[in-house]
Amino acid sequence: MELPLTEDVATQKTAAETIFDVAIIGGGPAGFTAAIRGAEYGLKVALIEKADKLGGTCLHVGCIPTKALLFNAEIWDHLQHGAEFGIQGIATPTLDWAAVLRRKDAIITKHVKGLEFLMKKHKIAVIAGYGRLTGAAQDGVHTVDVTAGGGETSQVKAKNVILASGSEAKMLPGLTADDRILTNIEILALSAVPKSLIVIGAGAVGMEFASLFRTFGSEVTIVEFLPRVVSVEDEEVSKEITRLFKKRGIDVNTGAKVEKVEKTDTGVRVTYTDANGKAQVKEAEKVLVAVGRAGLTGNVGVEKTKIELERGLVKVDGAQETAEPGVFAIGDIVAGLPQLAHVGSMAGMIAVAKIAGKPYRPIRRDRIPGCTYTEPQIGSAGLTESQAKEQGHEVKVGKFPFAGNAKATILGNHDGFVKIVSDAKYGEILGVHILGPQATELIAEAVAVMELEGTVDELMYTIHAHPTLAESLLDAYGAVNGMAINA
Ligand SMILES: Cc1cc2nc3c(=O)[nH]c(=O)nc-3n(C[C@H](O)[C@H](O)[C@H](O)COP(=O)(O)OP(=O)(O)OC[C@H]3O[C@@H](n4cnc5c(N)ncnc54)[C@H](O)[C@@H]3O)c2cc1C
Repeated sequence: MELPLTEDVATQKTAAETIFDVAIIGGGPAGFTAAIRGAEYGLKVALIEKADKLGGTCLHVGCIPTKALLFNAEIWDHLQHGAEFGIQGIATPTLDWAAVLRRKDAIITKHVKGLEFLMKKHKIAVIAGYGRLTGAAQDGVHTVDVTAGGGETSQVKAKNVILASGSEAKMLPGLTADDRILTNIEILALSAVPKSLIVIGAGAVGMEFASLFRTFGSEVTIVEFLPRVVSVEDEEVSKEITRLFKKRGIDVNTGAKVEKVEKTDTGVRVTYTDANGKAQVKEAEKVLVAVGRAGLTGNVGVEKTKIELERGLVKVDGAQETAEPGVFAIGDIVAGLPQLAHVGSMAGMIAVAKIAGKPYRPIRRDRIPGCTYTEPQIGSAGLTESQAKEQGHEVKVGKFPFAGNAKATILGNHDGFVKIVSDAKYGEILGVHILGPQATELIAEAVAVMELEGTVDELMYTIHAHPTLAESLLDAYGAVNGMAINA
């Protein structure tokens, strides 16, 4: 990446001579969003990025490439069921995997260029190199040491620093990623669809890759330590998606502890203890290790500050500020928030609002949409039924199956349901859990409703267009009072 000191900064000769209002370490979705919003507030912003391109995990090896491939999978699936829609002659399409990967890469490139344009547009000084905070501010100014790819060092001075260094895939002890033992990075660059794949870990990442490669014909086995898949979701969602994955031929093993991962002549062998305590052995061409992500807080200078860590992640207040005055943390390195791109970018907007002296609202954990782009998709926000009960709510639940929704019939996609968790006394919506077609889009309504503290009675009289998948929400609100129309 060039070192494009923008006009504004260039007039002051070099970044080294500038005192920025904020220096951001890390150009992923958290960091670049903070940079843009900061510039919109009129702050002088430096964005330090060690990779040769902006975008972070999300753009290069996370959200965007996975969703691009999952869309290919959706099309593939539609084509295979062409006859059902009266389209003949395409029942045996062939997959050009290289072209699939090229399309994914083109999408990434387009958005990298978009980010570069936005940095220039907002006169953000993008500084190439590895950033490390040197400690507390001296006379109100922090110093970040920057080491460029070639080893040259420089310093960036700023009144505030935002740490946005992101995360990396956790590995099982003793394993290193390679061409058979994969993390999200290697699996996105496979030269062919594997004949068989074992996925260790059934969080969103593991479930999405399992779904994707199953659609493309891989034999997929899931091995999950916890008693259920997508364990952050409502129990009913976990249960139903397990049933649907099994129906698709995915071998789902929960409560299963991986004991050993070995390479064989042709692939990998995973030994695990199943839920009944019995030893099991599975072999496959590849294994994906998707057991969570570790925040990159180890080498950004945290130890030279008052910053407090909680299991390796940074503790922050409602403005994303750490215990070190003027140092903020956003994105995957933050403790107590889900590691999601939209959470990181909102955290970035909050941090710069605080720095610019503008109003902001702290992130509320129960107002965060969580999306898993499996087939069928999951979209959820707010409390699960059991969380609501644990928090002492008297809970009233409404559930509506997509089987009763006309648009779902039109799409030929009937699996799943919408579940509303509401407070029995006032009818406030506490949680919405959707498993089914376009769940990741539908959940946006639920988050808006919860932000505005909408109630079941209000929503039962909110007109939803017909025929839409969104009508299933209207029916689900009605179902809370035993009054769904279509089921
Ligand atoms: C396979 C997969 C799929 C995902 N899908 C989704 C999804 O669909 N939706 C969703 O919301 N989330 C998804 N996520 C999670 C999402 O990618 C992360 O939450 C998001 O990328 C975190 O943003 P971030 O800016 O905190 O960190 P990152 O995106 O990791 O970016 C951090 C940046 O900082 C740079 N950096 C690190 N240290 C330094 C340093 N010392 N100096 C300079 N630069 C540094 C890195 O090079 C990187 O560019 C997915 C993750 C994976 C792995």
